[in-house]
Parts: sequence; C-alpha cells; structure tokens
Amino acid sequence: MRKAKIVCTIGPASAEPSILEQLITSGMNVARLNFSHGTHESHRAAIASIRAVAERLHLPVAILQDLQGPRIRVGALDEAGIEVTAGQRIRLVGGLLRSGGQIGSQTLAPSSVTEIPVVYPQLARDVRPGARVLIDDGLIELLVTTVSGGAVECQVQAGGRIRSHKGINLPGTTISAPTLTDKDRKDIRFGVAEGVDYMALSFVRGPEDVQAARRLVLECGGDQPIIAKIERAEAIASLDALLEEADGVMIARGDLGVEMGPEVVPILQKRIITKANHYRRLVITATQMLESMTQHPSPTRAEASDVANAIFDGTDAVMLSAETARGQYPVESVQVMDRIVRVAEGETQFLTVGSADPESRAIPEAMCEAAASAADATAAAAIATFSESGATARLLSKQRPAAPIVAFTPHEAVCRRMALYWGVLPRLMARVQNPDERVRAVEQRLMEERVVQTGDCVVLLSGTVTGQLGGTNVMKLHRIAS
Ligand code: ATP
Ligand code: MG
Ligand code: MG
Repeated sequence: MRKAKIVCTIGPASAEPSILEQLITSGMNVARLNFSHGTHESHRAAIASIRAVAERLHLPVAILQDLQGPRIRVGALDEAGIEVTAGQRIRLVGGLLRSGGQIGSQTLAPSSVTEIPVVYPQLARDVRPGARVLIDDGLIELLVTTVSGGAVECQVQAGGRIRSHKGINLPGTTISAPTLTDKDRKDIRFGVAEGVDYMALSFVRGPEDVQAARRLVLECGGDQPIIAKIERAEAIASLDALLEEADGVMIARGDLGVEMGPEVVPILQKRIITKANHYRRLVITATQMLESMTQHPSPTRAEASDVANAIFDGTDAVMLSAETARGQYPVESVQVMDRIVRVAEGETQFLTVGSADPESRAIPEAMCEAAASAADATAAAAIATFSESGATARLLSKQRPAAPIVAFTPHEAVCRRMALYWGVLPRLMARVQNPDERVRAVEQRLMEERVVQTGDCVVLLSGTVTGQLGGTNVMKLHRIAS
C-alpha cells in the first residue's frame, strides 16, 4: 500500500470519464478543480463525472476546490502580446475587467509610452516607487519609478513578451484587496452547493483569511475543511497562527518561488511540512513535481528526486498540476508518481514522525500515540478506528505507523475527506453501538477486504460512547481468531 496520497488537477486533459477512471485506478486520491480556470458549468460536469466514476469503482476520492484568490493579472491584449526590452519605460494601467475583456481605467493623459492593462483597480494605490513587478512567473521584471494619478510608470529590468491574462506578482508590496474576492465568494457558494470535500484558499496572508472563508462556508450550510495555500511572504511570517486556524496547508511552490525566490523554496518546504505535522494539520506539496511529463512520457531524474524528497520531508500528499490538467501524459504522470512514492516509502529510515504540539496534548493524541506504538511493537497487520469527524484518523496518520490505518465512519463525506490522509484506508460502516459487536463487525470487514488474515494482530481504537466527537478512549489489541 502507498501511504502518501496523490492529488491531481483536473482539466481539459483529464475531465473525460475514461481518463478519470484511469487516473483513479492508477492512484489518484484527490481531484483538484482550479477555479482560476473553467466555468461553473465545466466544474459541475467534472464533479459529476468524478463522483460517478469513483462510485462505480468503489474507491473514495475527495474533491478539492481551489479558489483563485486575489490573483493580479495582465488584461486583454492582442494575440501577439507586447514585447518589452530591458531599460524601456512602460506604464501599467490598473482597472477592473469589464465584460468583453476591456480594462476600465482611470482617465489618463494620452501618452506615447507603451501601456499594459492590469486587472487590479488598487494597483496605483498599493505600489510605491522602487517596488518590483513580476509578470508571467517572474519571467519579466519591472521596477516602479513613479506613481501618479492612477498610472504606474515602470522601467523594464528583464524583458520578454507580455501576453494576455498572465499572472502578476508584487513581492514586497502589501496588497490591499481582500483575500476573499467576490468571485471566491460566489465560488464558495457553488462549492458548498455541489458538496466539494475541501476548499483551498489562494494568497492567504494570515488566520483572519481562513476565518473569513470558514464563516462563509458555514453561512452557506457547509463544513468543508479549509486548506491555506502558502505562497506569500505574509503567510510564512504567520505560519504558526495559520496552522492553528486552518485544517491544512498547501505548499504552492510556484507563486512562493516568485514571491520569495526559488532558492528559499526547498528550505521553506521542509519548514512548512515539519510545522504542519507538529500541529497535526494536513500538508500537500504542490507545483511542477513532474512538470516535464506534460510533454514527455517519463520524468527527469531531478523530478523523481523532488517527489521522493517531499516524501522524506514528511508530506501527507504530493500534487500534479499541468501534468494532469493539460499535459499529454496525465495517466502516466500518476503511475510514475505512484511508483516514486512507493519506492521512497520503502526506505523507512527516512520517515520522520514529528512531535505533537504540547498544547494539543489530550486524550485522543495520547491514544493515537499508544496505538501506533502498540501496532509497531506487535507488527500489527492494521490499526482500525471509528471516526465521526475523521479527527482520530488524522491524529493516527500523523504517527506515521507502518501498519495501514483502516478508518471506519458512518458518513460518506468524512469517508471521502479521509482519502487525503497519509496511510489511511477510509471505509464506510454504519454505527454499531455495542462494543463487542463493533469489534466483530470490524474484524469481519478487515477479513473480507483481505487487509488481515487469521492469526494477524490488529489494534482497535474506539470510544466508549459512539457518535461523540473526540471520544476515542479505548484501545484493544486483538488477534484475529480462526
Ligand atoms: P495556480 O496558481 O492556481 O496553480 P495555474 O494557472 O498555475 O494556477 P494549475 O492548476 O497549476 O494552474 O494548472 C496548470 C494549467 O492547466 C493551467 O495554467 C491551465 O492552463 C490548465 N488548467 C487547469 N485547470 C483547467 C481548467 N479547469 N480548464 C482549463 N484549463 C485548465
Ligand atoms: Mg497559485
Ligand atoms: Mg500552478
């Protein structure tokens, strides 16, 4: 069994049911829908297909809705874009994107200077002379020289061709736009109505952003766990507070590298994973993991190392972006990732178990620690748990036991959510009140599914009161009788 989970971005290359089926059977545990792209119609269709295929295959697959956030973009330009060269002076004109792709800008004096429309009304208010403006993943770099009357004059530092709708980063500039945009609010409503399993927030600054999203999710009648995408300097600065507030984090290495420099990404990755594990939060390592596989059927050696090292760092999940969204080899990418992860996980000496946050020390944490150590000591074939909310399964997962964690829950949504948990096999099972009957029911399921055989040792974790959150307080070491 592979322990770390695989998240795949679904896009034009993978939205067909036949491809989805191959992705799932090859190892996709979580389907990510990027709301920077596509329409509600296309996402609704993708959700329906993912659900239908997963149900047919009887495999739990979680759907993660990734919200666009306050992404600043280049406005509409001609197909050819605009070529700029180092030393050239250009002007950025900020405004709102109108229907038809036109930027509604402030009235500016006509000028012979090249103007680039930017979809961000507060541009001239937020940037100061001396600020850096990065376009298209940092390929093009500008330096702000003057800001006057709504226009931002820049000098090109690194030239290139500026194309329509490319992303813009303003490292070092405090963005005044709220993290949750109007579009995000609409998308959250849509996501709750469609019953997605996770929400990911882009360009998070601090815990207030997560709280705001959580409030809106609750207002809409949802209870989706929230994953904060770490891609800005502010998020790094408030990492502890963010981890306390969010259910998990995604290391969004693309924008993180543009905002803070690619050289700090490896060390930030290690630091974020260690802290996430300490706080017992989910952590997904994302972006460019097998990037060359968008065009080639096999990965570079550097990419294979990158995936393996994320596993050694202790990530819960690794993610594919363009590889599965618009690449030529979406299924092969999952197969390759699955193989790299399995081989890496064979080298158990590199597996790290983080210590828990002392503040969080409570009965469930102590129970899970004991269960994992009992399972290791008896070479147990499985650790089985009953989980109402998935919380016990998540705590167990963070112990990184050698045995698979079979997590039973009566709730379908919780079952799907647990598909993201490291080392967890989520299973649906109706509540059994009587503790003895419960043990028998679990034993039967484990045998049926061939997770265990006669004579195997199993560690069972449950609560004396069923249906109570955080009620895990009983551990049983059990040998399967013939
Ligand atoms: P982010 O910063 O959120 O990662 P991105 O633009 O890098 O945004 P990815 O999710 O990494 O997007 O996906 C990689 C590429 O796949 C996108 O740039 C886009 O071309 C394509 N893509 C992803 N999802 C869709 C979709 N639903 N419809 C069309 N194209 C998509
Ligand atoms: Mg991003
Ligand atoms: Mg990306």
